[in-house]
Amino acid sequence: MDFSFTQEQELLQKGVREFAEKVVAPRVQEMEETKNAPVDIYKAMGQNGFFAVDIPKKYGGLEMGALARVIILEEISRVSAAVGMATQVFYLGIAPFLEAASEEQKQKYLPSLAKGEKLATVAVTEASGGSDPTGIVTEAKKEGDNYILNGRKIFITNSHEADIITVVARTSQDPLQFSAFIVEKGMPGFKPGRKENKMGFHGCTTGELIFENCIVPVENLIGKEGDGLKIALKAISETGRCGMAGVALGILESCLEEAVKFANERILGGKPISVHQAIQARIADIRIALESSRLLTYRAAWLKEKGMRCDVEFAIAKYYSTEAAVQCAKKTVDIYGGYGVMMEFAAQRLYRDAQLLIPSAGTSDIQMIVIARDSLKKGKK
Ligand SMILES: Cc1cc2nc3c(=O)[nH]c(=O)nc-3n(C[C@H](O)[C@H](O)[C@H](O)COP(=O)(O)OP(=O)(O)OC[C@H]3O[C@@H](n4cnc5c(N)ncnc54)[C@H](O)[C@@H]3O)c2cc1C
Repeated sequence: MDFSFTQEQELLQKGVREFAEKVVAPRVQEMEETKNAPVDIYKAMGQNGFFAVDIPKKYGGLEMGALARVIILEEISRVSAAVGMATQVFYLGIAPFLEAASEEQKQKYLPSLAKGEKLATVAVTEASGGSDPTGIVTEAKKEGDNYILNGRKIFITNSHEADIITVVARTSQDPLQFSAFIVEKGMPGFKPGRKENKMGFHGCTTGELIFENCIVPVENLIGKEGDGLKIALKAISETGRCGMAGVALGILESCLEEAVKFANERILGGKPISVHQAIQARIADIRIALESSRLLTYRAAWLKEKGMRCDVEFAIAKYYSTEAAVQCAKKTVDIYGGYGVMMEFAAQRLYRDAQLLIPSAGTSDIQMIVIARDSLKKGKK
């Protein structure tokens, strides 16, 4: 077992940390206030190769593997979980191309996605189907050389910034038959709808996508008809859950830094509050949660890089690290006392952002079902 980063990974971590502190940190307050997505930062990230790390070299990528994605998400989310979330969904949007697209589709779309010239997302959720995607009612009817899409997606990350969207739609009366389509911004009959007003992730758009007789050429079908849900669920189970765990790592690291700083600086009765065991216990809990979440997430990413089964490992990493982020953000707010709920301190932002990790890429209940089913199956062998 080797727990160390390669030299390349160390350099990546250092470079992303510098970028996050220089380019992202000065914009956090503005994002909190305006809730606007910083597209110029996304473009700069693309130019720095941040979206290319897990794309093969022949499509303009850097071929560094899944752990490189986690390193980037951790460092960016340490400064801004909102920018981390947008980034994780760019990776999610790239995943169906890597896993299931044809050679022509890869050549057409991956180079611009690698450079961040085009931004991506995946659209599965509808009002009638979140945890249970078989409730999807958006339909795609084949007419000549096109599919005609009608329906409405909700809660889609990067809804208004994404140029290339993998959309899952019903293509048959069979209740379990769905297909995945590449929809591009500007296609006739497609438009983003309303933007949600969320408690956290300010600076990362979550919104609706509307398809009204949207014309999608047949060559934009990914895989075969009927493969859609399998393609989307693989992307969500492996890349999406990996990404949410990566964002949680950044929040946990920020919790630890903020908690330690405040505990040392806040003087009461002539002593810093860090002398109190109650404060120390919270700091120890945050450290333990960060280190455990890191081990789970890095190992799952390592399995993915080795081409081994990793869906359950990512469900474990996603469940553990996102729940830990929620609990540790509360501990951080508690350490701050009354200052914890004041908007000028980061603690409250971490607390609000952490809760948004739970529903994204499947709620904790859904991760528990995945983990329990696998455990019960293994117990039968
Ligand atoms: C910030 C954010 C970003 C998102 N980004 C995207 C995106 O980019 N693309 C996309 O397609 N979707 C996205 N989503 C949607 C997300 O995947 C769904 O919100 C999530 O899957 C839950 O679905 P739901 O909101 O409909 O809740 P529901 O499915 O209605 O769940 C409600 C409650 O019931 C529980 N529940 C449901 N089924 C079961 C069960 N079988 N057993 C036990 N408990 C159950 C849930 O855990 C939850 O507590 C995003 C959501 C958020 C909040």
